Amino acid sequence: MIDELRQQGVSDERVLAAMLKIPRHEFVEEAWRGEAYRSKSLPIGLAQTLSQPYVVGLMTQLLLEPSAECAARKNVLEVGTGSGYQTAVLAEVVERVYSVERLKALSEIARNRLQGLRYRNVHFGYADGTAGWAAHAPYDAIIVTAAASEVPKALQEQLARGGRLVIPVGPPNQQVLRVVDRVGARFQSRDVAAVSFVPLLEGKA
Ligand code: SAH
Repeated sequence: MIDELRQQGVSDERVLAAMLKIPRHEFVEEAWRGEAYRSKSLPIGLAQTLSQPYVVGLMTQLLLEPSAECAARKNVLEVGTGSGYQTAVLAEVVERVYSVERLKALSEIARNRLQGLRYRNVHFGYADGTAGWAAHAPYDAIIVTAAASEVPKALQEQLARGGRLVIPVGPPNQQVLRVVDRVGARFQSRDVAAVSFVPLLEGKA
């Protein structure tokens, strides 16, 4: 899996080391374990999916890139805990992860899983993540792992100066991975890849 990631363009050694270390098969149901290290997305129940390794690697790598106003990404918000796999990758490469999930059953399974793997720098929230998690803002980076119809304002506002938001945006089959940087008081965005995510569930949990 790691060789494939390198070929696909994931070059950040911190990300590769994290993905080498984390037992991806433990994040899916037994029936899918044989597929866990292949280049594909996997079902995690409740119509949700764990992204293919490349997308996890790419998003994490983008999120870690330093900016002029933020040399190291320490305080990170994740929207869409899902299986907790992306959460574990983040926990390996940043100081603190706040992860919000809208479906209680998934949030609880992920929490138990990451406790079992001894991650102590992750805090779980059960809520609608489109509103962010104001209590722990501002964030050096925010990652969203479900597709939004447009970039939620609350998430932009919870970025620190120099902070970066990585988010899939657009309707099914036409999504792009968007990177939004907070530069001073302004926001700059660019689209980096075509992607395919389940839609973000909007509204009260
Ligand atoms: N990062 C996950 C991928 C999960 S798929 C992983 O590594 O497994 C997207 C997840 O986003 C699902 O678990 C879904 O329930 C969650 N989600 C969807 N809308 C949400 C919202 N508004 N707030 C928080 N989580 C949401």
